[in-house]
Amino acid sequence: MAEQRVRRPMMAANWKMNKLVREAQEYVSQLLPRIENAEGVDVAIFAPFTSLVEVARMIRDTPVVAGAQNLYYEDSGAFTGEVSALMLQDIGAGAVLVGHSERREIFGESDELVARKTARAVEAGMLPVVCVGETQEERDAGEMWEKCSRQVQRVIEELGELNGESIVFAYEPIWAIGTGATASPEDAQDAIGQIRGLLGELRGEEFAEGVRILYGGSIKPGNVGEIMAQTDVDGGLVGGASLEANTFAELVNGAANHKDS
Ligand code: PEP
Repeated sequence: MAEQRVRRPMMAANWKMNKLVREAQEYVSQLLPRIENAEGVDVAIFAPFTSLVEVARMIRDTPVVAGAQNLYYEDSGAFTGEVSALMLQDIGAGAVLVGHSERREIFGESDELVARKTARAVEAGMLPVVCVGETQEERDAGEMWEKCSRQVQRVIEELGELNGESIVFAYEPIWAIGTGATASPEDAQDAIGQIRGLLGELRGEEFAEGVRILYGGSIKPGNVGEIMAQTDVDGGLVGGASLEANTFAELVNGAANHKDS
């Protein structure tokens, strides 16, 4: 018998450091008509700060959510180069990526920093999409779960009372990001199921059942169906394949077809 699904699927585009304002405008204009029938899927575009203002403006009256790729946990002050939750909300951004592996690995973000940023986003009423995942070396050494559970636990410890709907996690094995290598649907389910189990231990079953957990790592139209078909996978965080509006629209429509909301 089909399981009654309570979590709305989500498909999120992570543009990383790509797209000038003009390119972002073209993309949004192409995307919107192509996803208007994709009911039951939450769509988010995580744009660089420079085009985020324009993306947020263009999608203001649509169900698509504008998201930032980073924030700082203070609201204002002497933090050169940083952007706060209040600033993001001021331009209409409703979501924010936190702890993407590129931030952790290239810019040295610690579990502590990621946890504080997440807590600030939640407190401000933004939806944080918190990324966790292991490197190939960690996986080979059998340390995948040690790494992911530590990352999840540190974030949860920092948070006060909240509903599961107020936070999203993304399991993104680093070896699968931008490499073309995808975790098998079973591996994605296994990791995401374990994360949900841990959330249940930490905050109770109701919380865990409300949290959406996405998979990220070389998602494309050819594999989105089998990934979305996994019980605990609630959607995708997409890098490379989100850069082209047609392809991302295919993924959004694919997600709509593979989950009952
Ligand atoms: C990402 O950057 O979050 C990501 C999953 O990238 P890609 O889809 O290119 O692997």
